[in-house]
Amino acid sequence: MRDNHTSVSVSVSVIGLGLMGQALAKAFLTAGHTTTVWNRSADKADRLVADGAALAATPADAVAASDLVVVCVSTYDVVHDVIGSLGDALRGKTVVNLTSGSSEQARRTAAWAEKHGVRYLDGAIMITPPGIGADTSVLFYAGDRTVFDTYEPVLKPLGGGTTYLGTDHGKPALFDVSLLGLMWGALNSFLHGVAVVETGGVKAGDFLPWAHMWLDAIKMFTADYAAQIDAGDERFPADDATLETHLGALRHLVEESEALGVDTELPRYSEALMESVIARGYGGNSYASVVKAFRRPAR
Ligand code: NAP
Repeated sequence: MRDNHTSVSVSVSVIGLGLMGQALAKAFLTAGHTTTVWNRSADKADRLVADGAALAATPADAVAASDLVVVCVSTYDVVHDVIGSLGDALRGKTVVNLTSGSSEQARRTAAWAEKHGVRYLDGAIMITPPGIGADTSVLFYAGDRTVFDTYEPVLKPLGGGTTYLGTDHGKPALFDVSLLGLMWGALNSFLHGVAVVETGGVKAGDFLPWAHMWLDAIKMFTADYAAQIDAGDERFPADDATLETHLGALRHLVEESEALGVDTELPRYSEALMESVIARGYGGNSYASVVKAFRRPAR
């Protein structure tokens, strides 16, 4: 027994030692795995080598050292630049690609892998490097179930929230961008709200508990709306408030922002969005009906 997560020590190679790649390699070392690393700028391996990693001179050497190859570089183009020409050296290996990109890039890379006899999992990391290894950290994976099951114990030390999304290699990228979008939408709204309350002499920290309370309420709204959307019957019952009522309240935010000299672009975007869905006849429906505007943009 090498650690709390895995019962066996395996060999793993990590290609790409940026901030994230270094954190991944460190987690494998901590879990007791024999870890080989490669990076274009070799000096980024220094600390890992001091901790017990082996430094490969070339990507081919890194691939030769382990059956499991984890890749985390800046883009999919770099992934293909670095390992795309290795040919038979990769045959029979398992590549886990944790580089961020689009669902299309993930699916095309999976097709490339299949053509070259490479077992391939695509993944997305929903945490910054300091969070690698934490029990709550989520990493999404997709690809062949057997490949995932084989390597799950090795991958688990990267994050306790390791989650398999199915065989569609594009899904981690879809979840990744959607969750990041959720983050930016919420953060922008929080910061806009800070700018509004500041005009009344309220500090961001004093606004914070109420923002947290409201985020919890939003969690409940999203649960209702997800159920309405999945029901698929387009009725979107306004059990809480109609879209017309939302628009009325939203206009107060636009007007208040304008009067206070706070930027109005963000609430005006929401105003235009709601107006477009109301124009399609959903004024008496719930806020969930706004999904229609995203599925089929009017503008
Ligand atoms: P980073 O610190 O900028 O590292 C980029 C890595 O890509 C380095 O290893 C770099 O090598 C390599 N690279 C770039 N161009 C290359 C090329 N032409 N040939 C060979 N290697 C090349 O970025 P990071 O934070 O580690 O992020 C890596 C991936 O993880 C990205 O796709 C990112 O979106 C994803 N990710 C990051 C985070 C995060 O919080 N950092 C969170 C989730 C996902 P050099 O060292 O030689 O430049």
